[in-house]
Amino acid sequence: MEKIALFPGSFDPFTIGHESIVSRALPLFDKIIVAIGYNTDKDGFFSLDRRMTWIKMVFKGEKNIEVIKYRGLTVDLCRKVNARFILRGLRTSADFEYERAIAQMNKVMYPEIETVFLLTLPEHTHITSTVVREIIRLGGDAHAFMPEKIKL
Ligand code: ADP
Repeated sequence: MEKIALFPGSFDPFTIGHESIVSRALPLFDKIIVAIGYNTDKDGFFSLDRRMTWIKMVFKGEKNIEVIKYRGLTVDLCRKVNARFILRGLRTSADFEYERAIAQMNKVMYPEIETVFLLTLPEHTHITSTVVREIIRLGGDAHAFMPEKIKL
């Protein structure tokens, strides 16, 4: 059976921290699906289309990486696309506590799912989409935190 991992997130915007998690996880799976979660009543800072275009640009030519958007429960999407793994990145103990609850609840809803965590590289621990967004909103230069292929 094909080993498919879903990497869900808001990616608002996609950072070098996210890029690194996907690249480092690639040897572990046959396919990684980067899934941009959204809900209709809350717009992101960057439009869904823009986030999608950026992530596709970053992984252009990578046959084992797909980029999609979704609404609703992550486990429902996993069932739909046949993913048995959820990929998440861990930066801090706060990430761990948050992720632990979600992973354990997902496991109850979909017992076949396994959440796989990769620790962030030390040089990416401080990078958060929230702060990158704030820098951009205030007119600063956030290029150091975003993949080179993304041009604002
Ligand atoms: P969410 O809204 O689901 O938290 P994010 O886009 O903020 O979505 O993050 C998606 C995933 O990427 C999460 O597992 C998060 O912990 C991870 N992540 C975010 N920033 C980094 C980083 N700098 N290094 C490694 N992983 C990260």
